[in-house]
Amino acid sequence: MRRPLIAGNWKMFNNAAEATALINALKPLIDTATNTRDVVVCPPFTALAAAQQALAGSAIALGAQHMHAENEGAFTGEVAPGMLLTSGCAYVILGHSERRQFFGETDQTVNVKVKAAMQYGLKPIICVGERLEERQADRVEDVVLGQVEGAFKDIEIADPTDLALAYEPVWAIGTGQTATPAQAEEVHGLIRGFLRQRFGDQTAEALRLQYGGSVKPDNAAELFSQENIDGGLIGGASLKAEDFATIVKAG
Ligand code: PEP
Repeated sequence: MRRPLIAGNWKMFNNAAEATALINALKPLIDTATNTRDVVVCPPFTALAAAQQALAGSAIALGAQHMHAENEGAFTGEVAPGMLLTSGCAYVILGHSERRQFFGETDQTVNVKVKAAMQYGLKPIICVGERLEERQADRVEDVVLGQVEGAFKDIEIADPTDLALAYEPVWAIGTGQTATPAQAEEVHGLIRGFLRQRFGDQTAEALRLQYGGSVKPDNAAELFSQENIDGGLIGGASLKAEDFATIVKAG
């Protein structure tokens, strides 16, 4: 039985004070829910310190939204894996479609970063998903499994709970247009099948596959009840404590 993983991607929202307020509102709402689920919040870099402080003593984990693959160097504006670790992060989102679309991330850069995250002891949440025109052209399997294959190039997995994959159809992110539970489950099943071939049954069965794309309090339970959906990566709805708490409890 896979333990659900529900992560909030705050994107470029919330300064330090706002992060503290959101976490303080969230903590009592999901106090006991964290006994049976892994819950993560991923604030912007500038709010990580405040979030770490607000999360002290809570079972909610901290994650970052992005990182560089090198651990130090002349990379203006970038943040290293070790810096995330010392800022209290246990997780890092890699390959989000917004990073792919606006910041030139590719399957290859995602692969290098997945290796770096695993090397430094961060748990990557690796995002994959097709664009609308790719779905319309009947290329979902090809595109998504290609991204999964690319992300895992030359990678072996010792502990499958050290990472997660988030299937996030690009057309569903921030649009209010959620994949139906059947559409999401179909792709999750394909991903699970690919992982079985690539890593064997045991790893494939234990690796958590999150769904992301306009998950809301009123659609989370049905999505998360699908056989191969093990929680979610939540954008907009993670910015409201009550909404995120409802989604967490649906996991
Ligand atoms: C996301 O940013 O990963 C996401 C799924 O956003 P939203 O929930 O707002 O669609």
